[in-house]
Parts: sequence; C-alpha cells; structure tokens
Amino acid sequence: MTARRVVVTGGAGFLGSHLCERLLAEGASVICMDNFLTGSPGNVEHLLGRPRFRLIECDLTGYVHVPGPVDLVLHFASAASPVDYLRHPIATLKVGSIGTLHALGLAREKGARFVLASTSEVYGDPLEHPQRETYWGNVNPVGPRSVYDEAKRFAESLTTAYRVSHGVDTGIVRIFNTYGPRMRPYDGRAIPTFVRQAINGEPLTVTGTGTQTRSICYVDDTVRGVLALAASDFPGPVNIGNPAELSMLALAMTIRELTGSRSPIAFVDRPVDDPEVRRPDTALAAARLGWQPVVDVAAGLRRTIAWFERELLETRPAS
Ligand code: NAD
Repeated sequence: MTARRVVVTGGAGFLGSHLCERLLAEGASVICMDNFLTGSPGNVEHLLGRPRFRLIECDLTGYVHVPGPVDLVLHFASAASPVDYLRHPIATLKVGSIGTLHALGLAREKGARFVLASTSEVYGDPLEHPQRETYWGNVNPVGPRSVYDEAKRFAESLTTAYRVSHGVDTGIVRIFNTYGPRMRPYDGRAIPTFVRQAINGEPLTVTGTGTQTRSICYVDDTVRGVLALAASDFPGPVNIGNPAELSMLALAMTIRELTGSRSPIAFVDRPVDDPEVRRPDTALAAARLGWQPVVDVAAGLRRTIAWFERELLETRPAS
C-alpha cells in the first residue's frame, strides 16, 4: 500500500467500512464520506477514536470538499442492494452520475488515483458465461434494475472520459456479489435474507425455482482485490469475484445446514429482469493484479453466520 491519505466514499456502508478498516491497518489515513442513506455511523463506530480516521457526513451529489492532500479516492457511494436502489431510484442515478462526477473532480483536483466500484450488474442478464471484461452486457435500459445498472455503466464511461480527457489515473473494478459481516439483515440480498430467516426459524424464501446462479465472494477477498487494483496503475475494468458458482436453492440449503436450522424452503416470485446466471472470469485479475479469492464458500458463510447470530441476538427484544 503506497497511498497515504485515502478518501472512501460510501465508507460507512458494508464494503466501505471493511475498506476503511483494512486501509487503517495498512497504515493509511482514511477520510470516510457518507450520507448514511443505506450505511450507518455504527459500521465505523469502532474506528472513530483512531487518530488517522475521520468521518465526514456528506452527500456526494452536493458540494464536496476535502481539505489537504489526497493520494487515492475509492468511490463506493451508492445503494447496492435491489431493495435499496428500488426504494431510492433517483438517488441511485444521481450518486452514480453526479456523485461520480464530484468524486472524479476531487481526484483530479488532488492528483489522486481514483477507483470506481462498478459491478457485475453492468453485464445485466448475460448472454456470455462466464463473464469476461470484454463482454458489453445485456441490460434493459427501462427495466426497474436499470437505475443501478445504467448508473454504473454511465459511471464507467465518465471515469474513462476523465482518464482520456483529463489524464486522471483511474481504475474500474467490477465487483461480483460479495457477502460478510455488516450486511444488514433486511437489505434484501440473498445471503442476509437466508441467514436471518434460518436463524429465526422462518421459511427461507427462494425466488423462482432457485435454479438461477450467483457467485459469491467473501468480503476479505473482495477488499484485497480492490486494494490490489488501487495500488496498481491498471485502468481495468477488472472483475473481482469468486468463480465458485451455485444455484440460489443450493445456497439456501447450505445456509440452512450451516445454521442447523429446520426452516422449510418457500418458493416466491422472481424479481423482474433477475439475471439467470452470474460467474466472473477472473483471469485478468490473476494476470494483472496477482489476485485470486482464497476464502471458500463454507468458511465465509460460517464467519458471516456467526456475526449475524451475535447481531440478531443483540437486537432481539428481551422476552
Ligand atoms: P452499502 O449500501 O452498504 O454502501 C453504500 C454506501 O454509500 C452507504 O453507506 C450509503 O449511505 C452511501 N451513499 C449512498 N449514496 C450516497 C451519497 N449520495 N453520498 C454519500 N454516500 C452515499 O452497499 P455496499 O454493498 O457496501 O456497496 C458499496 C459499493 O460497492 C457500491 O458502489 C456498490 O455498487 C458496489 N458493489 C457492491 C457489491 C456487493 O456485493 N456488496 C457488488 C458490486 C458492486
């Protein structure tokens, strides 16, 4: 890690808070900027007393000012779960467009490297499998998910334009489904939903027939990949995700087994434009960043379940 002073936008969210933690452990100073739309100060509470950590409440779509030098901007601000971005469609489009413009402006002003948190959702419902970075995607531009997918596609385009036109040192990381501690139990994503339901003894709600697949990456692996890209001068885009692919039904059953739950599986309606398959081709990340995921699914899920068990116990009303 060569960056000394790092801005993490969306730093009080799930991924952002893990990035802040890792950067501090590696000796960087961290400025965490967040408007707490889907994140919360609680995610970085344990970092607040540290001399090299600063939390700034700020909406990236408004005026953005950071005093002093900055070496690296990690732009992670954006609602990310379908429940969140469908609840905040305009805010999602605004942070992906205006927010990205401001974050790029900050990197340009400070002469900092800039890394955009893009997503596997830019591939939409992919017609190529697994997905390589050269694939252009299959996105419905007026479907409900487009507020997120198209915002990220625009953000990638804007990032590339700043590199070409303004010479900003940029990198684009396309993150595939990541999971781990500090996901919110009700954020609507499959893993927190299944884990919460299994722990509470409720039916595990699998959408459709459960044959649709996802590839899930433990948060520590994703963070390592993002920081490897940040430390390089590679523009990307580069996929970061775990190629181990499993069906949603298999995921639900694995979580049920690991929690020791007896919850039944309940099949519910599938969301509109929900992708059929998702698996990253990670050859580029291996070749350019020397990165590959190392945490296997069962180990990552066990750590996540242990965290959720503590979390749900603490927030459960005393009977
Ligand atoms: P999250 O919702 O936990 O975190 C996003 C953070 O951004 C929140 O703290 C939120 O309050 C903040 N934010 C939103 N709008 C903002 C604004 N206008 N100004 C300032 N802060 C704002 O989501 P996450 O899962 O941690 O995702 C973080 C980033 O990584 C997102 O950009 C997302 O698109 C990307 N990503 C995540 C995943 C994943 O599996 N978690 C996969 C692909 C991409």
